Amino acid sequence: MTAANAFPPPKMGEPYLLTPGPLTTAYEVKQAMLKDWGSWDDDFRAMTRDMRRRLLALLGEWSDQYDCVPMQGSGSFCVEAMLGSFVPRDGKVLVLANGAYGLRAATTMDYLGRAKVLLDKGDYLPPRGDEVARILADDPSITHVLAIHCETSSGILNPIEEISEATYAAGRKLLIDSMSAFGAVPLEPSKIKFEAFVSSANKCIEGVPGFGFVIARTSLLEASKGNSHSLALDVHAQWANMEKTGQWRYTPPTHVVAAFIEALKLHEAEGGVSGRGARYARNRDVMVEGMRGLGFETLLASRWLSPIIVTFFCPADPNFVFSNFYDLMKQKGFIIYPGKLTVVDSFRIGVIGRMDEHVMTRVVGAARDALAEMGVESAAPPAAALEERKKLAA
Ligand SMILES: *Cc1c(COP(=O)(O)O)cnc(C)c1O
Repeated sequence: MTAANAFPPPKMGEPYLLTPGPLTTAYEVKQAMLKDWGSWDDDFRAMTRDMRRRLLALLGEWSDQYDCVPMQGSGSFCVEAMLGSFVPRDGKVLVLANGAYGLRAATTMDYLGRAKVLLDKGDYLPPRGDEVARILADDPSITHVLAIHCETSSGILNPIEEISEATYAAGRKLLIDSMSAFGAVPLEPSKIKFEAFVSSANKCIEGVPGFGFVIARTSLLEASKGNSHSLALDVHAQWANMEKTGQWRYTPPTHVVAAFIEALKLHEAEGGVSGRGARYARNRDVMVEGMRGLGFETLLASRWLSPIIVTFFCPADPNFVFSNFYDLMKQKGFIIYPGKLTVVDSFRIGVIGRMDEHVMTRVVGAARDALAEMGVESAAPPAAALEERKKLAA
């Protein structure tokens, strides 16, 4: 099978979703949903078991010290479930934010009514190990650190190794939001120390949306009984029930689980985390090189670009209007994503989902044609954007 025909275009003329999820899924994944399951039935219980086992296997060595607890809802439900279940009521979390998802986690702590300190680095600057070490040294009451693995709002891959080292050197515990990284970026407890992380069905594993999962040390799951603020989001209760009966508490998203198992099989066939990560990295490299060739500039220097999603500055040319660019790209078969920077205009192009570098070459061609149709002569960003970028020293 060649790379070109391994990734046929979405059926029924749908555009590719160049977004961080929901994303373009394989036809087999969609097809897996054409059947109904009883949530209590042995067949579905076996599916849940199989899914949990497959997810844990992605942790590599030491995966036997962890367990996997799927939770209904979108990814944010899992972040809230993790924080509410694992941070003691008298605990205090250092939330490392450099974008919307870090700030959302901080807001979640406020809703939980549990103490937090926020390190807010703005739109994209990465939280570094030495900063974390300093804050932890200054405040002995901090018990946990929450880090965002890939901050999807800018597409930066945060330096999770140095954050983990600083956290454990200070005798604290690390929780990770690996929503948009897990499955494509390695997160192995034998290499990066952590207590728990969360991810969801519709990101790098390429399932459809409807649930997420918490992966935590089994000892932490055992110790977290009665700690949650919420009945529905109690990770311990979900885990204990699943261990005892094989069932989810409350209605599981049966079709989504069936689709996810198909997605996990495709993930395995592609070579697991390294195979998936390699395809996404190729997607990114081909797309970024092509866009730079058109004159676009990335927000981040190459070393910080995740193989997930990339932020570009909008061109300074007055003929460039993002909503027109969006519509033209959609007409050409590609849904792109608006940017989230507060200082300068930007847009994002995701490289995850069922597509390969050949598709990325077509994305660049579509962007070139869209610029020509809009009468944009140069894709170069305004000087202010390049000034902004200088803040990020490599
Ligand atoms: C997608 C994502 C989430 C969860 O978002 P939902 O819309 O609730 O699924 C959380 N954190 C990060 C880093 C994400 O990329």
